[in-house]
Amino acid sequence: MTDRPKVCIDRILPRDTMRPQRITRGPKGRPRAISPIGKAWMNGSTLRVRFMGGTPSEQAVAREQAGWWAAVANLKFDFNDAPDAEIRITFDPGDGAWSYVGTDCRGIPLNEATMNLGFLDGGTAGHEFGHAIGLAHEHQNPAGGIEWNEQVVIRDLAGSPNFWSEEQTRHNVLRKYAADQVNGTVFDPDSIMLYFFPASWTLNGIATKANDAPSRLDKEFIAGAKMYPKTGGTTVDATVLEVDARRRTQASIGKAGEEDLFRFTAAADGRYIIDTRGQTDVVMKLFGPNSETALVAEDDDSGVDTNARIAADLIAGEYFVQVRHYNRDGGTGTYSILVRKM
Ligand SMILES: [Zn+2]
Repeated sequence: MTDRPKVCIDRILPRDTMRPQRITRGPKGRPRAISPIGKAWMNGSTLRVRFMGGTPSEQAVAREQAGWWAAVANLKFDFNDAPDAEIRITFDPGDGAWSYVGTDCRGIPLNEATMNLGFLDGGTAGHEFGHAIGLAHEHQNPAGGIEWNEQVVIRDLAGSPNFWSEEQTRHNVLRKYAADQVNGTVFDPDSIMLYFFPASWTLNGIATKANDAPSRLDKEFIAGAKMYPKTGGTTVDATVLEVDARRRTQASIGKAGEEDLFRFTAAADGRYIIDTRGQTDVVMKLFGPNSETALVAEDDDSGVDTNARIAADLIAGEYFVQVRHYNRDGGTGTYSILVRKM
């Protein structure tokens, strides 16, 4: 046994480490967990899960703790072991516990895991499923107020069981997400997305306890407007867009983070353009064909002004368009959307 903390890695794709680390301050919000912007699945999605190993009892723990999130979020997990499942889990005891974050899982080759459950202490599986649905580490919350004793953290994590280089420790623990890369503002000491670490790791004596279940604020955040509100319906309720409609479809977003869902049928292969117009600053994602989790393209500002525009060569099939508003400074309101075939 060791009393060293077991630290989880939320795997960040290289393109995110390339993002500029600008710091901006938004207005104070209510306390909540944090989610890197743009990694949430479409609200109402069913995420399929494939076990790539594990004993029946290990798999049962994973299923049970995934259910903590499904109970409050507008998401379902289907443990059907599909070869192309969005979430693919190994149980390699030599590889710690980690997961890719939210929709980043889609970028991982299908023969590779998106999550490893090398240990299952307490709420570990629940924590990793938190990553899989788009949550980041609470100890990396820019509002956390933790002053790391960097040399001690680097020294401790260089030993068993992690054996991390200084660079890995900086990436996984010390680095905070820039305030404009995350949703959420105030640090939650009860979050399941916070890992246990001792007071010796910080200069201001802050220690954390192991949190083995989602906190009240974790649940509030994941069920809230920015993540997976049950009031948001599912893809079945998506507004149907007619391709080459005579009039643009009018829509409105009342709050930052709110999401609208549309669907359209591409009757034939070809190039399609989807664009929004209006004063509302929106981010648009296109999913399909015939899939609510396969991302075709995303865009936030190549349209007119703050509008979004996607031009893509599509094969015939059913497509979903997700429109979200991300700007914290207001400016929400009406917009219109149109799909054209070139
Ligand atoms: Zn983690």
